[in-house]
Amino acid sequence: MSMFFVEKKARFQNKHVVHQSDCELLPVQDNCIPLKIAKNSEQALEEASKYYPRVRLCSVCFSDGEEE
Ligand SMILES: [Zn+2]
Repeated sequence: MSMFFVEKKARFQNKHVVHQSDCELLPVQDNCIPLKIAKNSEQALEEASKYYPRVRLCSVCFSDGEEE
């Protein structure tokens, strides 16, 4: 099962990007927060939003990620 992470640094449109553990764009561990409870993309977004008000799924590691 994939682990999910949220980046500490905001990117596009001030949003913090949520990644899966195997994503090639995942930052080094110091620069992201592990989402320990999340089991799917929906829960990952929900958990990430507890850290940051604006979050989005990475379009690389989530094939069904949000389109901007
Ligand atoms: Zn990603």
